[in-house]
Amino acid sequence: MTVSVVLYTSDLRLHDHPPLCAASAASDEVVPLFVLDRRVEEAGFAVPNRRAFLADCLRDLDAGLRERGGRLVIRTGDVAEEVCRVAAGTGAGDVHMSGGVSAYAHAREERLRAELESQGRRLHVHDAVVTAVAPGAVRPTGSGADHFAVFTPYFRRWSQERLRDPLAPPRALRVPDAALSGELPSRKGVSGVSPGLAKGGEKAGRALLTAWRRSGLESYAETHDDLAGDATSRLSPHLHFGTVSPAELVGRARGAGGAGAEAFVRQVCWRDFHHQVLAARPAASHENYRTRQDDWRDEKEAGDEIEAWREGRTGYPVVDAAMRQLRHEGWMHNRGRLLAASFLAKSLYVDWRIGARHFLDLLVDGDIANNQLNWQWVAGTGTDSRPNRVLNPVRQGHRYDPDGAYVRRWVPELAGIGGGAVHEPWQLPEPERAALDYPAPLVGLADALDRFKQARGLL
Ligand code: FAD
Repeated sequence: MTVSVVLYTSDLRLHDHPPLCAASAASDEVVPLFVLDRRVEEAGFAVPNRRAFLADCLRDLDAGLRERGGRLVIRTGDVAEEVCRVAAGTGAGDVHMSGGVSAYAHAREERLRAELESQGRRLHVHDAVVTAVAPGAVRPTGSGADHFAVFTPYFRRWSQERLRDPLAPPRALRVPDAALSGELPSRKGVSGVSPGLAKGGEKAGRALLTAWRRSGLESYAETHDDLAGDATSRLSPHLHFGTVSPAELVGRARGAGGAGAEAFVRQVCWRDFHHQVLAARPAASHENYRTRQDDWRDEKEAGDEIEAWREGRTGYPVVDAAMRQLRHEGWMHNRGRLLAASFLAKSLYVDWRIGARHFLDLLVDGDIANNQLNWQWVAGTGTDSRPNRVLNPVRQGHRYDPDGAYVRRWVPELAGIGGGAVHEPWQLPEPERAALDYPAPLVGLADALDRFKQARGLL
């Protein structure tokens, strides 16, 4: 009797899952295992929104495995220790898992490999599970660089890679009796969850993908920046937890064809792009990707302003709307993320790490590669080719929320102001303005721009 362990990490699905397919093809019995990782908890990464979404994902995965005769085995503690214990207890000779990109994922893999090998067991790491194209699979030619630092050439090469056809889930699975199931976490047991948090799990992810392909994808090129229209896929938490396969998503979008699909696939490629940057430069999670000496303001110098930003009380309606959407849903529209991040890092000149941490505390899709590198991109320390661009929240509000519906949805204090005027409440005639329970702008935009330019030596 041969036994393999499948260690689930950020790939909580049955469809298009190379480790599960390889293990079930090679062994009589399979132990699908998830370890609630104490180190992730200790690092402060297991925040309520992601814990709740994760609980949904694990329950759904367990249900899907049970439909095939299997079940999910849950352990809590140190990943390497728990995997070794389960492998020893079930007599498994092989462990399959997906490759990750962060420094933590690399260290986990190395430790696991060493500990398994010391027991005479083998670790098999499968690529292109967490991303559509594996980090490092495409590299710049000629320069000797180990990753792409610029998106467009990466996209060109990435687009030429052949993606695997989605793998069907195994029809039947047998889990050894010796593998005790353990306790599945539940969303109900998590407090502090955003009231509008989406539902997790592969079933929900696949339903969203199908509905998106049918009715959202076609118009994506025109609508993806429309804040009030809310017309993006909202697949990011499913991509983060791996309940939707990125390779399958790209394949299905390409199959639909058209300008919408093209624009969408390009956007999904940004995800792979940031993953390959982080895989090559793991320190970019907390250090500037490009060397730049910014004398950012911190909590000591700008504590009240940072708090106003976190609370959605900056006095700039579109920034505040975005920050309140984040708190309410654990998710924010991409245009909102750009605006809110630019406002903190450039208009308030606050260290991007402070903003990135707050996003990670709330985002259900909060992801080291995508969050930290997008923050760096906006702050001008990352891969952006225009590092000194500063977004004007008033102009951006008029452009991407022309009727003001997004602001009125999230900032009830301003719900009585019609049309685009909601982006400039300070322009209202005095008795009306004074009656609003809404703050004056934290900083004048001209002053903020001067401070930024001065700090960057542009004046
Ligand atoms: P869609 O527009 O439907 O796009 C489809 C998918 O493409 C997304 O689900 C996502 O996986 C990928 N994608 C789209 N835009 C980007 C991008 N700029 N960078 C990388 N991937 C992208 N995304 C995260 O998944 N996790 C994060 O923690 C995160 N933090 C961000 C922080 C900042 C400051 C900024 C500016 C962006 C951040 N993003 C992050 C990227 C992007 O905002 C979200 O992926 C997107 O808003 C998710 O919504 P959606 O699924 O409806 O996107």
